[in-house]
Amino acid sequence: MDDPSKKLPRDETGSYLHLKLKRFPSVEALSMSHAKKTWAQYPQDADIDVAPSNRSKCRQCHQVIEKGNLRARLWLQCHRGCKISAYFHGKNCVWKYPETSKINKLDDFDGIQKLSKSDKQYLEAEFAKLKNETSGKRKPDETPSDIAVQTDSKKKRSQ
Ligand SMILES: [Zn+2]
Repeated sequence: MDDPSKKLPRDETGSYLHLKLKRFPSVEALSMSHAKKTWAQYPQDADIDVAPSNRSKCRQCHQVIEKGNLRARLWLQCHRGCKISAYFHGKNCVWKYPETSKINKLDDFDGIQKLSKSDKQYLEAEFAKLKNETSGKRKPDETPSDIAVQTDSKKKRSQ
């Protein structure tokens, strides 16, 4: 049987080209019901932590992300809308990956508040550099403001 994934476009390194960050603005844009599960579980576009083990590999350089190193993850969406987890070295590699430029603000990396002050400062500097580099070039795909419907159930306490 033919492996249907062989028909999907890849770049010269073998990475799939159909995997994109923010390919679909929200789960409402999808017609495939099975994609909802991963959207519900991982509403964020990206997260960042300190690697708890040597088990993840970097999508950019294809090397192991060693335990204790800064580790970023992008939730790439396939052409059908499923979210796919892609790990990167949080230093260097993730900033070279083209899809990273679609991230609007550093806070979109889930977990960043848990990092050390020096890690945060490093990330702020890298993010600012990336935004400077990309602001002159053509804009990444338009990303409509979050359509995610949230019922605001905050109760205001009046004292
Ligand atoms: Zn890497």
